[in-house]
Amino acid sequence: MGPREVLFYCLSFLICHVVFDVASNEREVFCCKKYDGCSSAVEHLPVEKRVGGSTPLSRPRDLKKEYIANMNNKSLKLAIQKGGRLTDDTLDFLRKSGLEFESYTQKLFASCRNFPLEIVYVRDDDIPDYVASGSVDIGILGQNLLYEERPANVKKLLNLRYGFCALTLAVPKESGVQAIADLSGKTIATTYPNSTKNFFKKNGISVETIKINGSVEIAPTLGVAQAIADLTSTGSTLTLNDLRPLTKIYDSEAVLIANDKTSSVESKRVLLEKLMIRFKGVLSAQNYKYVMMNAPAEILPKLKKITPGLKAPTISPLAKEGWLSVQTVIKEDTFWETIEKLKSVGASGIIVLPIEKMIL
Ligand code: ATP
Ligand code: ZN
Repeated sequence: MGPREVLFYCLSFLICHVVFDVASNEREVFCCKKYDGCSSAVEHLPVEKRVGGSTPLSRPRDLKKEYIANMNNKSLKLAIQKGGRLTDDTLDFLRKSGLEFESYTQKLFASCRNFPLEIVYVRDDDIPDYVASGSVDIGILGQNLLYEERPANVKKLLNLRYGFCALTLAVPKESGVQAIADLSGKTIATTYPNSTKNFFKKNGISVETIKINGSVEIAPTLGVAQAIADLTSTGSTLTLNDLRPLTKIYDSEAVLIANDKTSSVESKRVLLEKLMIRFKGVLSAQNYKYVMMNAPAEILPKLKKITPGLKAPTISPLAKEGWLSVQTVIKEDTFWETIEKLKSVGASGIIVLPIEKMIL
């Protein structure tokens, strides 16, 4: 058989196969056929019924998208940082919210056992784009990344009260620069050029910025910049590198962000609301302490003013005439001032307990 005949037989075989395929009205499955017993859920999705021969063939690729879209509506996808400064606190926060899942040491992707949530472990810089594109619904990252570049359809939902740091402007210790105005015409090295430029622009000072992705502190020593703008929490890295802080550009903490379309899908809106109740419950509990104290009955009006509690303090009589037991909650950020006031009006035997969750 010559090459022409071989080509003719091959073409006839193919045409017959396609005609048979299109004419068939049976439900069937596509298979990747990579190996016997292939179990790929995506490739084995059923093809929609074909009516006559005019309906175009559904392709495995389209089905894959459909399948993923369908899955997406049944659970929320959350992106968090893998192996960075925010990771441990984020895992801790999620677990305090009652979520059970494997951590990134085992996988890059984990499904919660007790909530329809899938966790994706990624680089923090990629989280805004993943959320913006809808690849994930929500993400946890440092606010600093949003200040630097915030995709239009990404919104902040919650401050999470960890990952505190500040974008700090610093100069070498021996530098003559004393105020930000002295940096006019100078070069600032930073991972956050937009934030730095905006800061100087607001202050009417013209500077050059140079973007450096890591070890920004070394830039003045290398002679590429006269100052740096870098994230600091304790300031010890600046000191270690003979740098002197000049001023703070902004404060940052970990935040929860969402794609603004997440709430427009009803199933996702419901899931997000449930998740937010958990997250807020943990945050409120962290913000308050439960306090029990003894007090003479006559100081009760003063106590109520100092610690109004959530609605009002709980009062019960003590076994001692004229004395009360008072139970209330105190805000963490004014904790010591409140305790001092309570003591000064006559409260005693003050016991403070942590609150695990608080649903307001
Ligand atoms: P990745 O490998 O995920 O890109 P990274 O090196 O960019 O990580 P990290 O150094 O792990 O980022 O910091 C992650 C986040 O931790 C920062 O974006 C910031 O929000 C927060 N953070 C808290 N304290 C500090 C600090 N002292 N220095 C830098 N970031 C801090
Ligand atoms: Zn990063």
